[in-house]
Amino acid sequence: MDFAYSPKVQQLRKRVTAFMQDHVYPAEVEFERQVAEGDRWQPTAIMEQLKDRARGEGLWNLFLPDSELGAGLTNTEYAPLAEIMGSSLIGAEPFNCAAPDTGNMEVLVRYGSEAHKRQWLEPLLSGEIRSAFAMTEPGVASSDATNMQATAVRDGDQWVINGRKWWTSGACDPRCKIMIFMGLSNPDGPRHQQHSMILVPMDTPGVKVLRPLPVFGYDDAPHGHAEVLFEDVRVPYSNVLLGEGRGFEIAQGRLGPGRIHHCMRSIGMAERALKLMCERALERTAFGKPLARLGGNIDLIAESRMEINMARLLTLNAAYMMDTVGNKVAASEIAQIKVVAPNVALKVIDRAIQIHGGAGVSDDFPLAYWYAMQRTLRLADGPDEVHRAAIGKYELGKYLHKA
Ligand SMILES: Cc1cc2nc3c(=O)[nH]c(=O)nc-3n(C[C@H](O)[C@H](O)[C@H](O)COP(=O)(O)OP(=O)(O)OC[C@H]3O[C@@H](n4cnc5c(N)ncnc54)[C@H](O)[C@@H]3O)c2cc1C
Repeated sequence: MDFAYSPKVQQLRKRVTAFMQDHVYPAEVEFERQVAEGDRWQPTAIMEQLKDRARGEGLWNLFLPDSELGAGLTNTEYAPLAEIMGSSLIGAEPFNCAAPDTGNMEVLVRYGSEAHKRQWLEPLLSGEIRSAFAMTEPGVASSDATNMQATAVRDGDQWVINGRKWWTSGACDPRCKIMIFMGLSNPDGPRHQQHSMILVPMDTPGVKVLRPLPVFGYDDAPHGHAEVLFEDVRVPYSNVLLGEGRGFEIAQGRLGPGRIHHCMRSIGMAERALKLMCERALERTAFGKPLARLGGNIDLIAESRMEINMARLLTLNAAYMMDTVGNKVAASEIAQIKVVAPNVALKVIDRAIQIHGGAGVSDDFPLAYWYAMQRTLRLADGPDEVHRAAIGKYELGKYLHKA
């Protein structure tokens, strides 16, 4: 594959980088301040200003390959842009490129009816509302999507939904108006055709957001990760996506783009952590030398550079495969980068924390928060082990017929 950025991507890289430098990085402290003052679960004025500005500059919906609805970029073209956005925890939302909305919008584009698109995709694309994806349940091992126990039972022209979900990211945000709920609708069907994905508006009677779940003590407000109870929730039968019993199929399709977007952003975060590490290692002195010249510190910097570059190439390779042979054939490559990217980011951030000493684990630097965030990505969208199992199975599959 050709790794060179096309002139279009080079232009966009310049523009996204300039936007981050001029507007997003300077807004990080103000964002935290606005979240901390008053009700933490309200959208911040600063984020809405950033969104208006990015939309005004045409830096909007860059993730969407559909050229009528989004920027029309391939995954390979979007990867370097998502990487730049990922260098800040508030970097993706200004461009309407934040999780879980990007994955949810892709689902609506691919599997939604015209009515679903009009009602939910359009306001999501314009950044008026946000969304959530409610699959994981506290009661069952949710790394196996066929385990979900929350029920969706047909009653005439309605679904009646009952169950408890958690880690429903974004459901605490008042701008979140729609959830994609995955529930057991056809318990007697074949194992991979028992679940359906159903659109559930947040304001439907019976939907109760019970609490935000903290991640190592961080609440990620105003986005948050919610535990949500569904008690006799009734929505029209037509809210089902793609068709009854096809939830697993959608889950597989959704996680392709959603997963790789996380990976691209993780690399951006690792890159910024390496920058902080190098700056600190050069500016601080101990035992008569800059920290960079002590012990094996320079080696750790070199190791970080090599690992980031490897992860970036693996991401681009997975993106290229998705663009050229499709998400299904690229499944092993997507799984590989889903394991590699957060693990590399964690190692680099950990080294950066170490070089910063006590400051590294404080809130004066973003490293501790970044570490907590990246650690969750070894679980979210499927734990490492599930992806490793898929990669191993694929490799063995090449030789099984010969055994
Ligand atoms: C910050 C955060 C945000 C999230 N956002 C969302 C969201 O928006 N929507 C949503 O639906 N979910 C979300 N999740 C949930 C996430 O996808 C699940 O936590 C994940 O799929 C694992 O499910 P589980 O927690 O039930 O772990 P379990 O399924 O109980 O697995 C626990 C452990 O078992 C081991 N394991 C599992 N399978 C295997 C295997 N095949 N081989 C070896 N070991 C194995 C692994 O070590 C795994 O970590 C989020 C999670 C976090 C932490």
